[in-house]
Amino acid sequence: KGDPRLQAISDAIRVIPHFPKQGIMFQDITTLLLDHKVFKHTVDIIVDRYRDMDISVVAGVEARGFMFAPSIALAIGAKFVPLRKPRKLPGEVISESYVLEYGTDSLEMHVGAVQPGERALIIDDLVATGGTLFAATKLLERLGAEVVECACVIGLPEVKEKFRRLLLRLGDQGEVD
Ligand code: AMP
Repeated sequence: KGDPRLQAISDAIRVIPHFPKQGIMFQDITTLLLDHKVFKHTVDIIVDRYRDMDISVVAGVEARGFMFAPSIALAIGAKFVPLRKPRKLPGEVISESYVLEYGTDSLEMHVGAVQPGERALIIDDLVATGGTLFAATKLLERLGAEVVECACVIGLPEVKEKFRRLLLRLGDQGEVD
C-alpha cells in the first residue's frame, strides 16, 4: 500500500473483456513483461517479502506462474519446481485434480523434486476461486513440504473480500495482502 510500484504494475496489466469466453475479464500479464522495469518491480516486491523466510522451494504453476517463479527462485536462493498440466512431466509424478467453472483439470509434480520438511512458496499470476492454488498446495504437502505461502501478481478485489470473509469465519484476523 502506498508503494508507487504497485500502481505501475497495475497500469501495465492489460484487461481484455470476454476472453477466452463471454463474461471473463482476462487479466493479461504479457503487457507487464514488455516493460523490464515494471517486470523487475513485480519480482522485487515478492522477493523482498520472502528472501529471509528460509524458503528452499519456489513452485510455479503452469503456464503464467512459470513467467515469474524462476526469477524469484534465483533471487532468494531456492530451487524452482514446475507444477505442470497433465502428461507433460516425463518422470514419476503425483497428480491433483481441481474443479473449474466447466469440468476439471489437474496439476502434476515430479516425485523427488522436494524433500520432506522443505519450506515452499507457490507462485501463480492470479487467484480467482483459489482452486488451482489449493491443488498446488496439496501436491507439495503430499510430498512432505511445508507451504509457507502462495503469492500471485493479481488478486481481484472481489476475491480478496471473499478470502477475508472466509478467514474471519475460520477465526483468523481476515488479513489478506
Ligand atoms: P482459480 O483456480 O479459480 O483461482 O483460477 C486461477 C487460475 O486461472 C490462474 O492460473 C489464472 O492464470 C487463471 N485465471 C482465472 N481467471 C483469470 C482471469 N480473469 N484472467 C487471467 N487468468 C485467469
